[in-house]
Amino acid sequence: MRILVLSDIHANLHALDACMDAAPEFDQVFNLGDIVGYGANPNEVTERARQLGKVFVRGNHDKACTGIDSLDGFNPIAGLAILWTQKAITHENLEFLRELPQGPVSPLEGVACVHGSPRDEDEYVLVASEAYTLLAHADVPLTFFGHTHIQCGFSVDMKKRQGQMLAPRYRSAHEKQQFKLQLKDGVKYLINPGSIGQPRDNDPRAAFAMFDTDENSITFHRVPYDIPGAQEKILAAGLPDRLADRLAEGR
Ligand code: ZN
Repeated sequence: MRILVLSDIHANLHALDACMDAAPEFDQVFNLGDIVGYGANPNEVTERARQLGKVFVRGNHDKACTGIDSLDGFNPIAGLAILWTQKAITHENLEFLRELPQGPVSPLEGVACVHGSPRDEDEYVLVASEAYTLLAHADVPLTFFGHTHIQCGFSVDMKKRQGQMLAPRYRSAHEKQQFKLQLKDGVKYLINPGSIGQPRDNDPRAAFAMFDTDENSITFHRVPYDIPGAQEKILAAGLPDRLADRLAEGR
C-alpha cells in the first residue's frame, strides 16, 4: 500500500494542487494537521483535504480557528491569520475542523500519526536529542509528525542504541525532486513530511512524503509551485504581507 503523508497545508491551495499533480498513485492519505491558518484558501483546502482522506490529526491552527484553543500562544501575525480564517471559513468546514481527532492516532499497526509529538500535540520536535528520547519511549516503530514545517526524520537503532538525524539531500532547489529512505527493522523512526503550504527549511518548494508499506520505504518529495499566485491571494485577502513574503523565502 502507498500512503500519501501530508502536513501543514495552511490554506495554500496553489501548493496543494502542485503536490497532488506531482504525487505518484496512492491508496490512502495521512493528514497531520494545520489544514488552515496563514493562507488565503481555507475553504478550498479544507474541502480538498476532506475528499482526500479519512486519517487526520488536528493541528494547533485548526484548534485555534475553531475556538478549541485560545490565541494566547500565537504570535500577532499568526493570530491575525486565525481571526481572518474564522471569518472566511464556512460553518460546515469549521465543524469538520472542530471534529478532527487529537493525536496520536494509529491508522496501521506499528504506525502513529501526531501533529507535534507523541506526548504533546503542540510540542515542536526540533532538537535531535529530544527526538531520540521520544523514540526511546515510542510504542510503535514509525511515527509521522508535522508542526515544525521542516522536512526531516530522526531514527534510533534500538540494538546499537544509536540515534541519527535524517535530512533529505537534494541536488537543486528549483526542480521537482525526491529522496528515498529505506526503513530498517529494529530501528524506530520519527518522520516529518515537511509542510505543503509554508515550508520553513530554507527550501520554498512544497513538501510531502510517500510511505510504501510493501517496500517499507519513505520517499520525501519537493515540488515547485506557483508562489506568486499564492502570495497574490494572501495580499488580496488583506492578510499580513509577511505571510506572502515568507513563502518565497521558505522560512
Ligand atoms: Zn503548522
